[in-house]
Amino acid sequence: MKKKICIIKGDGIGPEIIEEAVNVLNLIAKKYGHHFEYQEAWAGGSAWEKYGNHLPLETLRVAENSDAILFGAVGGRSEERNEPKWKNCEKNSVLVLRKHFNLFLNLRPAIVFNSLKNISVLKSKLLLENKIDLILVRELTGGIYFSEHKTEKGVAEDVMRYSEGEIRRVAKFAFELAKKRRKKLTSVDKANVLDCSRLWRKVVEGVAKDYPEVELEHLYIDNASFQMVKNPFQFDVILTENMFGDILSDLLALFSGSIGILPSASLNETYFGLYEPVSGSAPDIAGYGIANPIGQILSTALMMRYSFGLEKEAKNIEQAVKRTLEQGYRTFDIWEKGCQKLTTREIGGKICQNI
Ligand code: NAD
Repeated sequence: MKKKICIIKGDGIGPEIIEEAVNVLNLIAKKYGHHFEYQEAWAGGSAWEKYGNHLPLETLRVAENSDAILFGAVGGRSEERNEPKWKNCEKNSVLVLRKHFNLFLNLRPAIVFNSLKNISVLKSKLLLENKIDLILVRELTGGIYFSEHKTEKGVAEDVMRYSEGEIRRVAKFAFELAKKRRKKLTSVDKANVLDCSRLWRKVVEGVAKDYPEVELEHLYIDNASFQMVKNPFQFDVILTENMFGDILSDLLALFSGSIGILPSASLNETYFGLYEPVSGSAPDIAGYGIANPIGQILSTALMMRYSFGLEKEAKNIEQAVKRTLEQGYRTFDIWEKGCQKLTTREIGGKICQNI
């Protein structure tokens, strides 16, 4: 299979972890006889330095000419956030990319590797007896983040808006996913207060009629957060809108032990996708060669699965990561006694060996 991949390294640890992900892609291409052609493009602070803005047109053109985007992370230190290079950096780059490619669907699998159960915030006894196997489907281009914002005379206003069409397309995807999994879908909203949520619930119930084999339940966001911590094992597919999904996904990240190991996929209707780790650019550790590249590497597995339909290749990458952790190799963020602490490059190398 021939595919063009747009590589956007971004800022901070982005370039370091992308390098390991590209090594993995090269190996997968070699092993399975694919041809991946890489085209580099710039976004964030690095684009600001090269082009004077956070998302040059050239980046959009390169991405449009690709089959998928592998994205590192953008952004600088919080104390420098008002400097022109960093001001609104994420908003001007990642959010514009999502909107430009209509990436309305955000997938975040919650992964708790058995070998990391001691560093999860969940009690390891619980994790021995139960398995977390859930995936969060978040609507990504609608809702409060993408409507009008204004502040006037000491009063601020942010509008939340959803159309039936926006809800239906993401709900359909979530039901399709649930159908292929354990056939349970939890839709999260705040229908006791918000009109958008009442519409959300009505549309989701309409879509559910086409999926009688999938069990549907509704939870309010406050209860969903409570349940997520109390008993995350009960969930299969969770479907929610943009802002609630933003919050729930960070909660999910806690279970794995480090924000550095979780991948994400943002897709549109054609399954064109942007693949990135859930973490940010981690400026506090950038340049030391110690960042955990696993979230970025697992993002390439999602790319194989969702944009390229290469399930065997996706599983191969996921198994190689699992095996590497079972062999006791760790980066500093997931290190524990008795394990071997490795650099970004070293752990990337071990994962490649396991592929
Ligand atoms: P962050 O995720 O970058 O870092 C939070 C903490 O986790 C830090 O201590 C960091 O060192 C650690 N960490 C993150 N990734 C790691 C990894 N792979 N290995 C080991 N440790 C890791 O979040 P933040 O500090 O709030 O944000 C830093 C910058 O990233 C900000 O400018 C923010 O706007 C930006 N950001 C960008 C994106 C994106 O590009 N999509 C997403 C979130 C945040």
